[in-house]
Amino acid sequence: MPYQEVPEDAVVIPALDEDDKQAIRDEVRQAATEKEREAAPKRCIICGAPATHCMRGLPNNTYCKACAKDYFKFLSYLERL
Ligand SMILES: [Zn+2]
Repeated sequence: MPYQEVPEDAVVIPALDEDDKQAIRDEVRQAATEKEREAAPKRCIICGAPATHCMRGLPNNTYCKACAKDYFKFLSYLERL
């Protein structure tokens, strides 16, 4: 079957008025904030348990106490959260 070009007016996108656009922007922003809040409690990057320690200078590398002990032996490599 030969390729058929879809005429542009075949897809009808309803026009949004400014109120709708603003409402959508607000919704998106709120969703993003909620996600950030959810991500706030640090979790162990190995097992997902609540983290108690992070790597010195690497605040995104967070570990629970058990994993920190397993991986580092000495908690002095780590900073307490
Ligand atoms: Zn862990």
